[in-house]
Amino acid sequence: RFIVLEGLDGAGTTTQTERLASVLRAEGHAVVTTREPSDGPVGTMLRQALTGRLGLPQGRGPLAQETLALLFAADRTDHLHARILPALEQGKVVLCDRYVLSSLAYQGASLPMDWVNAVNSHAVSPDLTLFVGVDPQVAATRRAVRGGPAELFEADEAQRRIATQYLKAIELRENHERIVHIDGELSVEAVTEECLAEVRQVLAR
Ligand code: C5P
Ligand code: MG
Repeated sequence: RFIVLEGLDGAGTTTQTERLASVLRAEGHAVVTTREPSDGPVGTMLRQALTGRLGLPQGRGPLAQETLALLFAADRTDHLHARILPALEQGKVVLCDRYVLSSLAYQGASLPMDWVNAVNSHAVSPDLTLFVGVDPQVAATRRAVRGGPAELFEADEAQRRIATQYLKAIELRENHERIVHIDGELSVEAVTEECLAEVRQVLAR
């Protein structure tokens, strides 16, 4: 089973991915946790691009949004082949922190969403996507507490746009796949419980 967690930076998808994995593992499930940008070659390059560490020659501008969008799509192909599909074939539960909805929300904030959707048409649909929703202001406060280097797309203004884009992206795809809203402003424990209830339904199928 292929399960994806989505949300703004600071929504808690990384925390919840780990918490879900430990509960499911304790119950005897074989679980693989992974993330996008992936830890493969294209994903690594993307993380460098997002933090301004790509080492481009002096004087040339940053990667264009279209280029980034295609790299995210290429990273997804690589991630599917190298990690997700093999794990699914072995009958494992794959928990993935971000997937196509992130592309629709983040790259769709500056590019036509239909184009972003089209370049991701190769991506197999998850069995379940958990959208961990938080107010952009709550997410901003959590990022400030967490600290760390500021990434591209993490400015408060950008995150408000991305929050709107997430809702449009869900509208675009929810007729084709299962996407569930989770209230990400509940306590960490309560969010895990809400997610687990949905995950258990999918695992029981
Ligand atoms: O989940 P995490 O914060 O580690 O992801 C790194 C960053 O990659 C996100 O903050 C987001 O800005 C960016 N991203 C993106 N498009 C995607 C996936 C991630 O812009 N499809
Ligand atoms: Mg982040």
